[in-house]
Amino acid sequence: MLLNQPSCGNINFMALIFNYTYRLYPDKSQIELLNEWLETCRISYNYALRELKDWISSRKCPIDRCSLEFEYIMAADYPFPGYQQQQNNLPAAKKKFPFLAAVPSQVLQTNIRRLHDAIDFFRSRGYGFPRFKKYGQMKSILFPQFRSNPLSDWQIKLPKLGRVQINLHRPIPEGFVLKQVRVIKKAKGWFAIISIQSDIEIPAPIPHGHCIGVDVGLLSYCATSDGWTEPGRKFFKTEHRRLKVLQRRLSKKKKRSANYEKARLKVEKQHNHIAFKRKDYQFKLAHKLCDMADSIFVEDIDFRIMAKGFLGKHTIDAGFGQFREILKYVGWRRGKFVGEVDHRGSSQICPNCRIEVRKELEDRLHFCPECLYKTDRDIASAQELCNRGIETYRRTSEKQEIGSQVVLSGNFVLDKWRSGATPLGKPEHGNAHQERGASSNREVRSPLPSRERE
Ligand SMILES: [Zn+2]
Repeated sequence: MLLNQPSCGNINFMALIFNYTYRLYPDKSQIELLNEWLETCRISYNYALRELKDWISSRKCPIDRCSLEFEYIMAADYPFPGYQQQQNNLPAAKKKFPFLAAVPSQVLQTNIRRLHDAIDFFRSRGYGFPRFKKYGQMKSILFPQFRSNPLSDWQIKLPKLGRVQINLHRPIPEGFVLKQVRVIKKAKGWFAIISIQSDIEIPAPIPHGHCIGVDVGLLSYCATSDGWTEPGRKFFKTEHRRLKVLQRRLSKKKKRSANYEKARLKVEKQHNHIAFKRKDYQFKLAHKLCDMADSIFVEDIDFRIMAKGFLGKHTIDAGFGQFREILKYVGWRRGKFVGEVDHRGSSQICPNCRIEVRKELEDRLHFCPECLYKTDRDIASAQELCNRGIETYRRTSEKQEIGSQVVLSGNFVLDKWRSGATPLGKPEHGNAHQERGASSNREVRSPLPSRERE
């Protein structure tokens, strides 16, 4: 299927910011220092959160019936501890607690910023109040500003830490400026997420060229409207046997002992391994899909709701939401359009003649009693998503173009595809009739062929 080639009329620009992840190899003393900083950040985070919580609980009850036993009372004119106030308190706190001064000041400030971002997020959503962080729970620190480029060929210069060995496996592209660096601690090692920015503005891709619909699922990880399927993958399921063993070993260890820490690291490493494997697979799959088409349409389903139902564990294991985000990113980088379309009832509609064909989850074959179109269930669903994508995004691009011409060519393209799709179904027509005779159950459910039942 082809949509109109991109025109210059409706180009919207996006700023260029990339986050590249690299492995860090700090030496022994640097690891010690980083761990100390993380702990200091955790303490200051908890202190700031305590102040916030005290302020909130001191203003909870009516002024004439405070419970003196439990409420910590702050003066009525004490202002709400906002970000600016808590950040301005830091210099005074450093004089009182000298260990705070060991950490770069901007790292502490962004740490407070992080708490207030969490509070703002809580306010906008209505749930998810930030919690105190336990020992070892602070995993990352942010260096928000650099005067000059801290990167050399194999080292990165971080404030107060010195030169740290880095594996720059992916070179920073020309014309990009390094903005900030986040250092992350994981069981597998230390990582640096480097944010780079460029002033160059490139147009966001618009629907064009060969279009495909992509339907994701558990039985086949994804199916395209061209008839290509990728078998389902279970990342957690294949690795959880070892995880089980490690977790059982951990449960036998004495808490806070050295052996407990060793066992805990092994469990964390296994979790890291599963997550890295999944992400790697999804990136490769996204590139494969971008090789196949110029415009890709995916369903706009909320996978969190899908994960709450039947086969929830496997849905979470597949990581469909993450895959959709990765596909969008890869598509954007490669100039391919990735758009979301309405997912409702996409598996219950015949992509060929667009009538409703009811199917249960166990019916793996799509067979339309009206036009006798027969194909795999997932592929039919992907074809329907593709139809919807073309309809949705043609309408948006129509506004900028000369109306009638686009409608005509669009119809022509759809008709051409339909006529192209029928030969696919045609050779199977003979079989289809037989199958229809054999499985009378499916016929009863389908709304149309009532005359055949008579
Ligand atoms: Zn049909």
